[in-house]
Amino acid sequence: MEGAYKPKVLIVDDEKGLRIGTKRLLELEGYVVDTAENGTEGIEKGTNTDYDIAILDLKMPDKDGIEVLTEIRKFQPNTICFIATAYASFDTAVEATKLGAFSYIPKPFSPDELLQQLERGCERRKFILDAENLKREREARLLEVAFEKTRLNTIINSIKDGLMAVNKNGETVLYNPSLLRYLDLETLKIEQNIIGQLHPQIAELINKFLVTGEYTTKSYSAQVELKPNGELFVDVTSSAIPSPDGKLAGVVIVIKNITQLKKIEQLKSQFVSMVAHELKTPMAAVLGFIKLILDESVGLTKEQERDFLNRSQLRLNSLLQMVNDLLDISRMELKTAHREIKQLDVNEVIKSVVEFLQFEIEKKGVKVNLELSDNLPALAADQDEITRVITNLMSNAIKYNKENGSITISNKLLSNSIQIKISDTGIGLKPEEKNRLFNEFYRAKNEKTKNISGTGLGLSIVKRIVESYSGKIEVESEYGNGSVFTLCFPVKKLNDNNIQGEKPAE
Ligand code: ADP
Repeated sequence: MEGAYKPKVLIVDDEKGLRIGTKRLLELEGYVVDTAENGTEGIEKGTNTDYDIAILDLKMPDKDGIEVLTEIRKFQPNTICFIATAYASFDTAVEATKLGAFSYIPKPFSPDELLQQLERGCERRKFILDAENLKREREARLLEVAFEKTRLNTIINSIKDGLMAVNKNGETVLYNPSLLRYLDLETLKIEQNIIGQLHPQIAELINKFLVTGEYTTKSYSAQVELKPNGELFVDVTSSAIPSPDGKLAGVVIVIKNITQLKKIEQLKSQFVSMVAHELKTPMAAVLGFIKLILDESVGLTKEQERDFLNRSQLRLNSLLQMVNDLLDISRMELKTAHREIKQLDVNEVIKSVVEFLQFEIEKKGVKVNLELSDNLPALAADQDEITRVITNLMSNAIKYNKENGSITISNKLLSNSIQIKISDTGIGLKPEEKNRLFNEFYRAKNEKTKNISGTGLGLSIVKRIVESYSGKIEVESEYGNGSVFTLCFPVKKLNDNNIQGEKPAE
């Protein structure tokens, strides 16, 4: 046994000679030996140390071997206990075995007998310890797996995209709460065939893999309208899950909400078709005039030709204006991301716009009154954008005014906003016109507007800008009696992040 593990043995015996003799014998054989001279000492040592083997004398004056055995088994269940006695009866043998003794050693015993028994005991002890280690390792592994599983579950459950895995029979093996929300389901039974309950397009994405039954790295995706009228649009992607041997184990799908993106896409395509329509009419008109002029068989007079050319010029001018306005819109959209926010003096902006429009003001013969408050706080905004808002409203107030009419621009500080009013004494608006005023390309068509040119984009640009500053625009008007446009800008400090895309000036 040299160099190898030395089993630890406890001998509990009240017979001194036997204790010492056995200890010596066992130590020579490579055991590490402890002794106890009575039951009490035996219990104390045996319960405190996890001996490999304990040899317990049955008959001792204070506590007998059975009592010592019971105590040791309670605290050190893996110690292999032998009962040694000269008075072995069948009954005590049965009782001791029941209480967990490994075996009997009849006294007196020869060294060989003892060593043989202890060797068996050692084997048993090794077997028990190995089993115990294995069990502990397995438990540790299970714990680790359980921990990994809950961690993974927490992650999967926190994902906002819907997620579901099915096995190759189409039965659910995993899903997260977002998936239930998308599919409008209360719950899903694990290992239940789900394919039939799915939207046909989603079922098809899964079936693409299940039908062939083969693993591939391909993935399929589709945009699916889960709720009608564009209320819920999702992008679904399915991919195959491989098994350890490289075959198909199942399919995983990921569902992403793209409702918002779809809405924007729709608005954009609506806008594009509206623009195309608006461009087409004047172009067709100009083309018509040119055709007439070029067609000699029509035989236009010089005067008619001139008239058609003038009309073409008018149409092309308004087309150019429309293209410029459209460019403004697209520039503005780009600009929200690159604004140059400054503390603006609103009065300065108004005065510079009035100056800029002086020629139009004089041409129309309107009078401009400024009623500007001198205690306004600065407005944190992009100068170009606010100038554009005031310019558009002012040029409308001139354009839709009466000859020799007037315009009043006033402003004041409300509790937490700056109010700007632009009133004119112009043609005014009918109630039904008022509601559509801010729509792209809308132009009121009535007796009074038929000779005034425009694109119908000015007010939509104004509204976009004002709302991007969380502001408001309202209009009051009486047909034939003028209009009042009221703007309200919340007063914001520099760096207030409510302004979209705001970037403080360097
Ligand atoms: P545009 O002036 O180029 O037609 P806008 O978007 O600026 O386009 O205005 C849309 C429509 O609203 C105008 O065509 C006009 O009918 C009406 N409108 C705008 N401002 C006034 C105003 N101050 N008075 C009367 N009508 C107005």
